[in-house]
Amino acid sequence: MDSVSKYFSGLFTGIGSLLKGMSVTWKELWTPKVTRQYPENRETLVVSDRFRAELVMPHDANNEHACTACGICQMNCPNGTIVVTSQIIETEDGKKKKILDTHQWDLGMCTFCNLCVITCPSDAIKFDNNFENAVFTRSKLIQKLNAEGSKLREKKKEEKPTAEAKPVIEVKAPVADAKPVVEKEVIAKVKPEEPKAEKE
Ligand code: SF4
Ligand code: SF4
Repeated sequence: MDSVSKYFSGLFTGIGSLLKGMSVTWKELWTPKVTRQYPENRETLVVSDRFRAELVMPHDANNEHACTACGICQMNCPNGTIVVTSQIIETEDGKKKKILDTHQWDLGMCTFCNLCVITCPSDAIKFDNNFENAVFTRSKLIQKLNAEGSKLREKKKEEKPTAEAKPVIEVKAPVADAKPVVEKEVIAKVKPEEPKAEKE
């Protein structure tokens, strides 16, 4: 008798469990869907502004950026993702000046810790939320953040000349991995413009 009651008890428990599961399935069948159909919803997809997807160096309307090639972001990057190369130019007033040559960032190595952004003294770099960065070749993940032909904010600095000439200090940042810091010195003397011949 005990075995018969156990049999029916187990049978009804199983049927009850099955009906409970089916009720959840039936309920979810009619619940509005929240699954995002990417990439079909690319036009309406909302990605949080705080999402760190890509390191960028904003350029203004005059194609100028704020990077001074100080190398602090490179020094603070824990895994050598950033390589900053600079060059020394000689300004019209004879002073030597360090300017940015290339600011290279490797998306494939970046851990998106944001240390480079928060330690940049010039607010020259920031993270964008453009997450569609898939490529077929790893080398394409290495990006040059300063655009070709971009300039420093020389104009602003010329407007505010300092009283004392400061010596040029070369910052040679230590790198965590094997990538060396490439310091390229180029002396670009600015020749004074020759006076134009007056028209007769
Ligand atoms: S991005 Fe900022 S921290 Fe990095 S080299 Fe340029 S100014 Fe310095
Ligand atoms: S987010 Fe972190 S790992 Fe990525 S470049 Fe900046 S400091 Fe390096």
